[in-house]
Amino acid sequence: MQLPKIKNGLSIGIMGGTFDPIHLGHLVIAEEVRIQFKLDKVIFVPTGHPPHKPAAGVTNPEHRYLMTVLATMNNPYFTVSRVEIDCLKGTTYTIDTIRFFKEYFGGDVNLYFITGADAIMEITSWKDYKELVSICHFIAATRPGYTLKKVKDTIRKKCPEVLEQISVLEIPAMQISSTLIRERVRAGKPIKYLTPDSVTAYIYKNGLYRDVSHKV
Ligand code: ATP
Ligand code: MG
Repeated sequence: MQLPKIKNGLSIGIMGGTFDPIHLGHLVIAEEVRIQFKLDKVIFVPTGHPPHKPAAGVTNPEHRYLMTVLATMNNPYFTVSRVEIDCLKGTTYTIDTIRFFKEYFGGDVNLYFITGADAIMEITSWKDYKELVSICHFIAATRPGYTLKKVKDTIRKKCPEVLEQISVLEIPAMQISSTLIRERVRAGKPIKYLTPDSVTAYIYKNGLYRDVSHKV
């Protein structure tokens, strides 16, 4: 059964990610979901220590946080939270973040977790995923290589009971990833138009993705 929507309650999107760095793919999906689901706000939540990525390979959270602030500052509906960086100790799990926001906003809130298709297909490996989908609606954006059909078929096969709690949204194809940007910077290739200019400037100014000293 689909999560009942609380009438007159705020509708808040939570966009989790490593954002190492944030790029136009993230911004496009957040804005598209905001409009289609009539969200009042989208909160970007850079991960502290993501369970799916080796800690040693991730850039210092302060850099990732600041790049996320720079990238979102022109959109009045976007904001950035430090909850996973400051408050949640150790490895950060989405269930803890969602519980935090549930408590923070109180009862009258409809929470939507925004994610990419690649991530949602691994949902059964997420901590307490059944509880997660019972307190928060999931919106998965398609990504090159992950069609709407592929996502739905995979979830139907792995965990049919959560299928109804997940909306899959077709997004204009964006073959951009943080991995691609890191590789291009390392190779001395341009990253213009893949991420906002402010983020590009921040990356060059701080020597990110060239120098391993910025890793945690
Ligand atoms: P990396 O290459 O380091 O894994 P990424 O580009 O996948 O980085 P993440 O910070 O891992 O970025 O992603 C945060 C969320 O945004 C994930 O749920 C991911 O699926 C989604 N996402 C990232 N890029 C895109 C894109 N181009 N189209 C759709 N979803 C995306
Ligand atoms: Mg990723």
